[in-house]
Amino acid sequence: MSDYAIQVKNVSKIYKLYNRPSDRLVDTFGLPGRKKFKEHRALNDVSFEVKKGETLGIIGTNGSGKSTILKIITGVLNPTEGEVLIDGRISALLELGAGFNYEYTGIQNVYLNGMMMGFTNEEIDAKLQEILDFADIGEFVNQPVKTYSSGMFVRLAFAVAINIDPEILIVDEALSVGDVFFQAKCYKKFDEFKKQGKTILFVSHDLGSVVKYCDRVVLLNKGDKLDEGTPKDMVGLYKRVLLGQTKEAQEKMLSRVSEQNGDSNLWKNHYILNKDVDEYGTGKAAIVDFAIIDEKGQYTNCIEKGTRFQIKSKVHFYEEIPEPIFTYSFKNIKGTTITGTNTMYEHASAGTVQAGEEYVATFEQEMFLQGGEYLLSISCTGYDASGFTVYHRLYDVCYVTVISDKDTVGFYDMNSKTSIEKC
Ligand code: ADP
Ligand code: MG
Repeated sequence: MSDYAIQVKNVSKIYKLYNRPSDRLVDTFGLPGRKKFKEHRALNDVSFEVKKGETLGIIGTNGSGKSTILKIITGVLNPTEGEVLIDGRISALLELGAGFNYEYTGIQNVYLNGMMMGFTNEEIDAKLQEILDFADIGEFVNQPVKTYSSGMFVRLAFAVAINIDPEILIVDEALSVGDVFFQAKCYKKFDEFKKQGKTILFVSHDLGSVVKYCDRVVLLNKGDKLDEGTPKDMVGLYKRVLLGQTKEAQEKMLSRVSEQNGDSNLWKNHYILNKDVDEYGTGKAAIVDFAIIDEKGQYTNCIEKGTRFQIKSKVHFYEEIPEPIFTYSFKNIKGTTITGTNTMYEHASAGTVQAGEEYVATFEQEMFLQGGEYLLSISCTGYDASGFTVYHRLYDVCYVTVISDKDTVGFYDMNSKTSIEKC
């Protein structure tokens, strides 16, 4: 018997990106024609092992290949090169929805998942009550899963994954969706698992939990394994990578953008912009540039929790406008607006602006959002004869990553000073 629960050996994954669905058909059926896809290397010769009884964490920025490697380990995806050896029964909680049938009820999905893991109906019967108790979603277990909120969904999915008695538990970033009591319950279960000598592999952006629960951490970066080591060392390295990476990303971006429009002096070219930005407005003003700047003065979309940072937006006015309002807001990935402000709330005024003028609004503040990814929106609005008017708005123009090694409950950290005294 091997000491390893999981062995990942020189795994590479290349995704083919097609411009049109018909190009995929041409390729799948080997029809003659020019190669009509681009190759994207999501994993590049990655190797690591997870020992039996070990809790291994995988960290890395968005798009570094974490979900891809978990999918390959669980057999949802095949590697392009390399192989994965597994010793033990895996239960996995991948991205929301994997392994669930939306038309089935909660209970039917419990059976579906159990069967997929090789359990008989009777074995699942025996575990059903425990699973339902853990999920604690009441009567909803008899409703089709498509009616669930993402919170309910993750409760059920996690309850199944964790109570089905796996030898290896794999969890992809899913826990952050559940509420706090549920998260606590799950982490307690992690502890029990560890005590029982089970193997856990998990991906999280909550670096505090990574440090707390993992024995060892693998750091991925753009498909490469950068390093592996103690959670503290890897979290430290990760933070350095995030800062270093922005420089590299910046150069790449500048050359790409200057190819496109010959103008590399714009602030916004330091960021990866959302191609699907939701943009509208009357056109009387245009947001021509914007920036996110950390406390060291670097143009970066990675901000460490507890540090000061700035958001700037530069607006060109095409007509005379009285008291334009500059705004920004942050949404979480689920689309909930978490915070934001504007120059009217903040009592900053440009007065009446004239056609042809440009103004820059600077918002400086401290970052208190929890670690994770957020979408930034900016706009220029105001009030004219017809009432509230949006001159130009960019919804979800880019994302901002907040790095933190301590998370609190909910959306933001109130920065408590905490002490305990013996009475
Ligand atoms: P992570 O989980 O670390 O954010 P992923 O494993 O989801 O990263 O993605 C790694 C890279 O592979 C990203 O660049 C992503 O855009 C790309 N990718 C992921 N899934 C697919 C897919 N089905 N087709 C094409 N590219 C993909
Ligand atoms: Mg992922």
